Amino acid sequence: MARYTGSTCRLCRRENIKLFLKGDRCYGDKCAFERRAYAPGQHGQRRSRGGKYSDYRVQLREKQKVKRIYGLLEKQFRGYYFRAEKQKGITGTNLLLLLECRLDNVVYRIGFANSRNQARQLVRHNHFLVNNRKVNIPSYQVKPQDVIEVKEKSRKVTQILEGMGTVVRRGIPDWIEVEKGKFRGILKALPNREDLTMPIQEQLIIELYSK
Ligand code: SF4
Repeated sequence: MARYTGSTCRLCRRENIKLFLKGDRCYGDKCAFERRAYAPGQHGQRRSRGGKYSDYRVQLREKQKVKRIYGLLEKQFRGYYFRAEKQKGITGTNLLLLLECRLDNVVYRIGFANSRNQARQLVRHNHFLVNNRKVNIPSYQVKPQDVIEVKEKSRKVTQILEGMGTVVRRGIPDWIEVEKGKFRGILKALPNREDLTMPIQEQLIIELYSK
């Protein structure tokens, strides 16, 4: 499947916000957004000065931002929107919950990886069990009370150990319980909208897709 293979930091600069896609690097001096907080490309600085944007542009950028935070392709992201729309409740909140409950995201939130990208790779490489069963599908939907555990023989994997060491910097959300010594985390309950503190205006995405 086609996947974005260009510069990751370019995405943050394009969306004009730190998306924290590169783990440790995002917190240091080497963060490209800290150095050049304007859009990439020849006319990047001019574009970043702002101006009057159409509703469509604002909605599109919001969608692109969320899609990039979770590392999804357009087709996958649109699929989540349709699923969210079919569920009861507020479509925007449903959409964010579906994204948050992806296994790669939960692995990242627990702190077994430094970025969602790394989490996705670790999941694909069979390092985790969900409720004692092997799961290597990054899009697997984790449910409340599911237990995500690092496999016994994967407990020395450097990326996992590093992730567990540095997760304090970004913090573990309240809706996740971590038992560090046992290399496991539990999704205690689905988060409320106010628990998701990333600057996302999901309503703009709904408006874009409902056109
Ligand atoms: Fe974005 Fe991280 Fe790159 Fe900074 S280092 S621009 S936050 S991906």
